Amino acid sequence: MTKPKTIYLDYAAATPIDKRVRAAMEPYFSDNFYNPSATYLAGQKARAGLNEARAIIAGWLGARPGEIIFTAGATEANNLAVQGVMRQFPEAEVLVSAVEHESVLAPAGLLDCQRIPVDKQGIVELDKLESLVSDKTVLVSVMYVNNELGSLQPLNEISQILNKLSKSRKSRGNDRPLYLHADAAQAPNYLDLHVARLGVDFLSLNGGKIYGPKQSGILYIKSGSQLQPQILGGGQEWSYRSGTENIASAVGLAAALELAQSKRPDETPRLKALRDLFVAGLATKLPAATINGSAKHTVPHILSVTFAGVDNERLMMQLDEAGVMCAVGSACSASSQEPSHVLKAIGLSDAQARSTLRFSFGRGTTSADIQATLALLERFVPDM
Ligand code: PLP
Repeated sequence: MTKPKTIYLDYAAATPIDKRVRAAMEPYFSDNFYNPSATYLAGQKARAGLNEARAIIAGWLGARPGEIIFTAGATEANNLAVQGVMRQFPEAEVLVSAVEHESVLAPAGLLDCQRIPVDKQGIVELDKLESLVSDKTVLVSVMYVNNELGSLQPLNEISQILNKLSKSRKSRGNDRPLYLHADAAQAPNYLDLHVARLGVDFLSLNGGKIYGPKQSGILYIKSGSQLQPQILGGGQEWSYRSGTENIASAVGLAAALELAQSKRPDETPRLKALRDLFVAGLATKLPAATINGSAKHTVPHILSVTFAGVDNERLMMQLDEAGVMCAVGSACSASSQEPSHVLKAIGLSDAQARSTLRFSFGRGTTSADIQATLALLERFVPDM
């Protein structure tokens, strides 16, 4: 018997490495394995590969190469931003949106921290954000794209509010910085990453979501920003992140980012059409299903759906057995049995959160995949 084709709808959790990315990485595993700190010629050649990767990434961000620090993924970049800044200012306060990834919430939770509420669509409430900023605030961390809902945050507007508040603070003799950090792990396939246009001081990126290697990432650190390193040692990465550089990973991330940003103009409308197809199919086949997040301010690859009264674990397993892979909330914190903090933050009850699945699309998704998934949902979801 032939095995039924599997349909992968969990691209927000992990993406396969693109073969061009793998090819770009390959020489750094073997022929060009040298330590980039070595002063002999081969070491310098390895260093050139690292420099080139940094320059490519800086180019897409409109940043300087010296502002790009390689990390092992977005979790580390987020920890470096939050803990690095806050250790520099021990008496200060950090504000984080209520829908941040755990890799922001957990380090912020160890500090003097307040959560910025979001509206029903998962978007930060700007007036509340403004009223929460106090003379003690030095860092505001708001993600670019929410990984469970797809909702986009108005980073540029937030940045303008913070600039205004910072100026008024300075006029009162308070010289503390007021930084904006954005976790952009879910953004590069579909959105502009230009740091000046976004108005951010720190930006985290992740290779594992953009067809690059897992545990590859960067933190953009705007020059002049004050933060303390979290990993101490040999002083690599301008001492922000010690440890012999993983050049293959850096080169893979750069190649993946280049591909993601170049494909963006085609992939964005293609996936938007697939998302629309899914939403329209749900409306006809399962009209009681509700879509979470914003219809307008969203990325095209994430769709959060609540099937009221349905156990999401069970439905996810039924789909899996039928060959469709999707997620219960966020797979990034998969060990948690608690209902998703993101869904709770937008006002869903525990029961509604436990009836919610996330479908996320990517380069391999086709309209046939969407139609097949809709047909299975119609079969498995009881009359609602
Ligand atoms: N931030 C967001 C928005 C994510 O979706 C993820 C996904 O896992 C992360 C951070 C953490 O990335 P990683 O586990 O690859 O470090």
